[in-house]
Amino acid sequence: MDNRDYDDDLDENMELLPFPVEHKAKECTHNLYRYYRICFNMGPEKRNVILMISDGFGPASETFARDYYQFVNGLSYDNVIPLDRIQVGSSRTRSADSLVTDSAAGATAFSCVKKTYNGAIGVDTDQTPCGTILEAAKAIGMKTGLVVTSRITHATPASFSAHVISREMEEIIATQQLGDYPLGRQVDLMIGGGRCFFLPNSTTGSCRSDDRDLIAEAKNSGFTYFSSRNEFDKIDPKSQSIPLIGLLTLDHMSYEIDRNPTDEPSLKEMSEKAIRILEKQTADSDKGFFLMIEGSRIDMAAHSNDPGAHVHDILAYNEAIDFVTKYVDDHPGTVVISVSDHETGGLTLALQTDYYEYPEYLWYPDVISRIKNSSYALSVELTKYWSNDRTEYIKDNILRNSLGISDFSDDEVNFLVANHTQLEYEIYMANLTSWRALVGWTTHGHTGVDVNLYAHGKNTNALRGNHEVIYIDYYCKAN
Ligand SMILES: [Zn+2]
Repeated sequence: MDNRDYDDDLDENMELLPFPVEHKAKECTHNLYRYYRICFNMGPEKRNVILMISDGFGPASETFARDYYQFVNGLSYDNVIPLDRIQVGSSRTRSADSLVTDSAAGATAFSCVKKTYNGAIGVDTDQTPCGTILEAAKAIGMKTGLVVTSRITHATPASFSAHVISREMEEIIATQQLGDYPLGRQVDLMIGGGRCFFLPNSTTGSCRSDDRDLIAEAKNSGFTYFSSRNEFDKIDPKSQSIPLIGLLTLDHMSYEIDRNPTDEPSLKEMSEKAIRILEKQTADSDKGFFLMIEGSRIDMAAHSNDPGAHVHDILAYNEAIDFVTKYVDDHPGTVVISVSDHETGGLTLALQTDYYEYPEYLWYPDVISRIKNSSYALSVELTKYWSNDRTEYIKDNILRNSLGISDFSDDEVNFLVANHTQLEYEIYMANLTSWRALVGWTTHGHTGVDVNLYAHGKNTNALRGNHEVIYIDYYCKAN
């Protein structure tokens, strides 16, 4: 199609947009629409777009997960993980105000196709709301969804479904996600954690400062609400109506390594259920759906420098990728893009532990394979355990059984026996395994390295190469 047809069609669709003029969303949405239209050759045929975000997942994390997966399954070096099969290029991540982005600016770059400042949620550098890809999809008649393992109000999902000047404003983000803002309800389906920002402050576990009961408000405005694994299992995509909101935990959902499958579904299970529901809800329409799926806690494990939690969340994300890429194969009108907002932790594979001695060339996946819980979960337990047998508890339950370490030193035991904060225990335990595995980290924050870009589906070759995600539309136009 030539640009004339495209622009005519675009102007027609712009008339349908509900944005107020001061929202300045039209221009942004114009870019977003072009991005989809040209990148994926959206003609009259029905399209589904699945955007997957692996928060805090850099190139070294992919090698780490692949090596680990081959090791634990006894596979040869040519066995790859699902992401390896759909890599098309890389993406540059810096924000408007720093060479190292945060997740808010990182996600707003995807959602609004605009560079903004760290901490910004769906607003530009002037703190003006920018139209998001999810709102644009809704405006042209698609159904929309968010599936995450963090709080649903956390930076990445918030950047698609809310407009606030700071990621800290999760109380307001929750109200906007339910439709309490100028555009009205834009998200048809939400599954994740973060119930605490929806509960009134009179309720145990609430994170709100006011007494608004957002769960009651959601139900009153037509949402189906669920909060347990049992209710999740009972949802039948064939008969389930939208809007739908599932908040399975008060705070973030568990790390995959700690997840009890009888309490919480996996990212793949949530993704599959969401896709089936949106597929059914768009079955009689000529418009498909837009779904953002985030492996949210890959990032948080890297913040803690916890290699066990990091690798299991990456592999859980890859299971979701595997399902979605097969879905794309079976549904040629669907495309999936997978990308990270930034790298976290400065992970690298090999660590020089002696400053003066030249290191060996290796790292030890077997050390990682013996870890059974996140350092976060173990540190929370340890801060509560002050019985007389604390030393034995640390040696047996924490070091030998949960971290898989039997060569611990007296100094290491003594540190854990002494009184420290939860975070100090967590970082210390993560170091015990990283050090032994010769897995290196440079920071407890983010880094500025490029991240990998993955895509699968019709015309996704247009995404090949290294680019700023916000300029992808121009690249596509040139192709
Ligand atoms: Zn982060």
